[in-house]
Amino acid sequence: MLIVRKYGGTSVGDADRIRHVARKLAAAWREGNELVVVLSAMGKTTDELIAKAKEIAPDASKREMDMLLATGEQISVALCAMALGELGVPAISLNAFQVRMHTTSAYGNARFKKIDTERIRHELEAKKVVLVTGFQGVNKYDDVTTLGRGGSDTTAVALAAALQADLCEIYTDVDGIYTADPRIVPTARKLDEITYDEMLNLATLGAGVLHNRSVELAKKYGIPLVLRSSLSDAEGTVLKEEVKVERMLVSGVALDKTVDRVSVAGIPDRPGSAFRLFDLLARNRINIDVIVQSAGHDGKQEISFTIAEADAQTVEKLLSENRKKLGFDSFVIDRDIAKVSIVGAGMISHPGIASKVFEALFNVGVNIEMITTSEIRISVIIAKDQADRACRAVHDMFITED
Ligand code: ADP
Ligand code: ASP
Ligand code: MG
Repeated sequence: MLIVRKYGGTSVGDADRIRHVARKLAAAWREGNELVVVLSAMGKTTDELIAKAKEIAPDASKREMDMLLATGEQISVALCAMALGELGVPAISLNAFQVRMHTTSAYGNARFKKIDTERIRHELEAKKVVLVTGFQGVNKYDDVTTLGRGGSDTTAVALAAALQADLCEIYTDVDGIYTADPRIVPTARKLDEITYDEMLNLATLGAGVLHNRSVELAKKYGIPLVLRSSLSDAEGTVLKEEVKVERMLVSGVALDKTVDRVSVAGIPDRPGSAFRLFDLLARNRINIDVIVQSAGHDGKQEISFTIAEADAQTVEKLLSENRKKLGFDSFVIDRDIAKVSIVGAGMISHPGIASKVFEALFNVGVNIEMITTSEIRISVIIAKDQADRACRAVHDMFITED
């Protein structure tokens, strides 16, 4: 079998863990499998690199940030190749440049366009385990790019698609996908299987267990994807198009602490104001999620919306520069908020779900600051320091223990 495996940061966190991964790979290789292995940077390396950059240049260019961040993954693959060598298994590490993993040019948030498979195939034919750096690519300027935090999952799935692998396995520090982050919600239930769509919704709304683009790609190419633990042999969670078990009303709860709220005050209350504001943001590729517009008075109104924390600096700059043009009085960015979402395809046809969410939050004294609903989700914006509590309350209202 041709298997693409990915090990996350914790799974390669130190020399012992790398040796452990190497032993697992050696066993799979000795069984006759062809292995392409994607690794993340060791432990908290990526965070540490970001902190180092901040010390030197708080506003560093995105190109140089990518150049810096891509080094983390290179350490992991080289060390793991060495560990395999020690076990007598031929192995070679390759970075995105050597493989040629072509991406768009957007530094810090690049997407794969095409992956060359020649070099990898060549190494597989030579019976080597091929270790590939996750999270990185090369753009048309021959510059290194990165795929956004957590992007190594996407590297693995993209490689599985390009190589038409038989299986793609994501090894991490939990033994499967749960109905909520098990570190925050102790009553969360492990799922044996989940549909691509459900996982895509959860991932997009903040469930960091899989990079959302990896799920998107897996669905697009029908990649059989399994998420499991690198530390135990427990069966993991299988992602697929359809699952056998009857669809639950709510498939899970996602928590996103990486959102900020922008409130723009004193916007002229007339047609076109909202358009001009959101058009400016859209042209600068700022994703907006929850939007609330207050009732106008004295010819003015206030609009609040949420953005990704990573975009806050850009939004701050854009709004400051365009205040006069857009005609608003002032704006503030609130960083102390979080978004809790319940996700489920069955919700649309069930009235009263929103009121149950509000009841759950009321029961634990959490104030709701903003709300948005769609066919498949209800999200509430709340204070960040109440987020874990809110997540547990909402989860337990809808999902009971077995
Ligand atoms: P890796 O470094 O292996 O990529 P991540 O930290 O990115 O690992 O993802 C695994 C973590 O995702 C888990 O430790 C868990 O805290 C978190 N998580 C969030 N939501 C879920 C969920 N629904 N199911 C399982 N884990 C989740
Ligand atoms: N090392 C990168 C990060 O920490 C990519 C990944 O782990 O998937 O975001
Ligand atoms: Mg991850």
